[in-house]
Amino acid sequence: MTVRAFGSPVEALQWLGDNAADLIITDYKMPEMNGAEFIRALRRLPHAADAPVIAITVHEERSFRLKALEAGATDFLTSPVDHHEFVTRSRNLLTLRQHQLLLARRAETLARELADSERSRERAIRDSIERLAQVIDTLPVLISAVDREGRTLFVNAFQTDFFGIDPAAVIGRTMREHMGPENAQRDHSLDRLVFSTGKALPAYEEELVSKDGERRSFLTTKTPLHSHAGAIEGVLTSSLDITANKRTEQHLRYLAHHDSLTGLPNRALLFDRLRQAITRARRGDNLFALHLIDLDGFKSINDVRGHSVGDRFLKSISAQLAEVVREKDTLARLGGDEFAILQADVGSSADAAEFAARIGQAIASFQDAELTGARATASIGIAMHPSDGDDAEEILRNADLAMYKAKAEGGNVFCLFASDMQTRARAAATLDTALRHAIDHDEFVLHYQPQVAIGTREIVAVEALLRWNRPGHGLVSPGAFLPYAEENGLIIPINEWVIRAAAEQAKAWQMQGLPAFRVAVNVSPVQFRKRNVPLFIARTLGETGLEPRRLELELTESIVMQDLDEVANDLREINRLGVAIAIDDFGTGYSSLSYVKKLPVQRIKIDQTFVRNMAQDPNDAAIVRAIIMLGHSLSLDVVAEGVETQRQLERLEGDGCDVAQGFFLGHPVPAAEIPRLFAWPTSGARTA
Ligand code: C2E
Ligand code: MG
Ligand code: MG
Repeated sequence: MTVRAFGSPVEALQWLGDNAADLIITDYKMPEMNGAEFIRALRRLPHAADAPVIAITVHEERSFRLKALEAGATDFLTSPVDHHEFVTRSRNLLTLRQHQLLLARRAETLARELADSERSRERAIRDSIERLAQVIDTLPVLISAVDREGRTLFVNAFQTDFFGIDPAAVIGRTMREHMGPENAQRDHSLDRLVFSTGKALPAYEEELVSKDGERRSFLTTKTPLHSHAGAIEGVLTSSLDITANKRTEQHLRYLAHHDSLTGLPNRALLFDRLRQAITRARRGDNLFALHLIDLDGFKSINDVRGHSVGDRFLKSISAQLAEVVREKDTLARLGGDEFAILQADVGSSADAAEFAARIGQAIASFQDAELTGARATASIGIAMHPSDGDDAEEILRNADLAMYKAKAEGGNVFCLFASDMQTRARAAATLDTALRHAIDHDEFVLHYQPQVAIGTREIVAVEALLRWNRPGHGLVSPGAFLPYAEENGLIIPINEWVIRAAAEQAKAWQMQGLPAFRVAVNVSPVQFRKRNVPLFIARTLGETGLEPRRLELELTESIVMQDLDEVANDLREINRLGVAIAIDDFGTGYSSLSYVKKLPVQRIKIDQTFVRNMAQDPNDAAIVRAIIMLGHSLSLDVVAEGVETQRQLERLEGDGCDVAQGFFLGHPVPAAEIPRLFAWPTSGARTA
């Protein structure tokens, strides 16, 4: 192999004007032009139009990567480049390139031979088919096709080898028993999807197990095979082995999310976890606390004994902290001598304070035998959700303020953000009384947000969202009071009111003759834990006379995970009543479709965080696409939440998403405004 290096992009472009390259590697930041401009220029050269290009960036920001991607980069490496990673990636791309060239050459010969003479035409065609079959057999890609009944039309050698099957035995029969039941079922549903839509499916990733029990990752595409008359005769499936790529990708992701010294999660991962925790708490399930920990006196260890001793000390401290946290907590290093702990499932600020005291204790009592005398104490700042912040940034900022206060008090202490615990307790008590008052005085209202079928733009459902019309405070959102209501148990009467009010409203719309759209109601984990939801729903349906198909319950993954079998029973009963079930905020919890499969669920709602970022972040876009695809393979309807722009809607449409909900399609509005959305007269509308 020949390697050529160029000092400037201009020189490289000159050379590429006359010569071909199998792999091009470029820096992003260069003197005359940046990497994106360079790639764009070389894509215009006939010799380099389709050669793979790796761009090396020092920028973690996605915008650079996006620019390079748009210009046509194939892959990325982050500087400083890891040797091992560089070699695997280059090797993958070079192999792919070889196949590309091989296919192109065969196609060329074929074309030449066909043109050669009329006389040899028939033979050439026969040969070409044989040759093509050979090519297909030599490609390291699983290739097969099936007809409408799932019978194998053809399968290449790589695939029969991989599964250890005899080709003669599967032609004309189904091959599914060789793929494992789970893959076979998905495969079957996706084939059916291609037959029914007549369209190719976007590429998706899947794992397959070889005859030797080895698990490998594949990038799979499915396309329709047409007969001469244009009818769909079969579905062609091809799966490229991307196991090596996946491993480097996982390694990269690990690097991007972990601190290299201690191996702990870094700031980026902590932020992700914080956001997830906030989403879960929105429904009033889990309160949590963020502890920011800054070591007092670490600087002197570093200065006096040198950096390697300092590093060692930090590692020991992180091991010490790891002993204090539980599995569901997140311990992160934010940089320098700053750590953070996200403490999950906190009952009250007293719990958080007790935990902080233990952290302080663990650090103060630590002494490394080999680093005689090296000791530290910690200043700890605590912020809680929801009382000390609504979003990750605010919570972190307030924990930081509390930490500075602890430092200012001389260190070796912890401070709660709302330093005056009495004020905090008083606020909680006031809220408690106010909530009880609210229940008795009908201060709650429901707003309804439309869910729109992407294909037809018809409203197929509305989601009931709770608002508290609190005297002196205006309309309060659920995030501000449901977590408390969960804590003191008031969530039960509140949510029972929600279900009843939504059902009454739905009945009123039914009576007005509005089309039969569903009304979706969010249920709380606490309600489910009480195990009387099916009964309550049955009673509500009976008392209101609402058609069951007009009602839907939205529950989160956390409800489901708590007690899979018991919850599954309850859900089956609810289904039996004719009421549909949706999994809300999908992707923020365990996100496992394997449990969804075990449940009587009709719909999944992709959480808004993925939808929001899908236009900028290829990862999120891929997650959205995968959820849609896998949802469909389980015959579930897929709803995207938080759609705010035309662009997001178009992308979702392209990915085959069924239903969308979000500000772009309609904000939550009072019940009286809903009939208007159906071009229905509003007079006579009754609000619940
Ligand atoms: P959710 O069930 O995921 O509801 C969607 C939330 O996203 C709503 O917030 C809605 O107003 C908001 N949203 C809708 N479209 C967009 C958009 O395009 N952009 C953005 N940024 N936001 C959008 P809301 O009404 O504040 O409700 C928050 C959460 O509170 C709900 O999340 C749900 O988990 C919970 N919740 C609401 N009502 C009830 C209820 O009656 N009972 C229970 N247990 N929980 C409820
Ligand atoms: Mg919801
Ligand atoms: Mg949601």
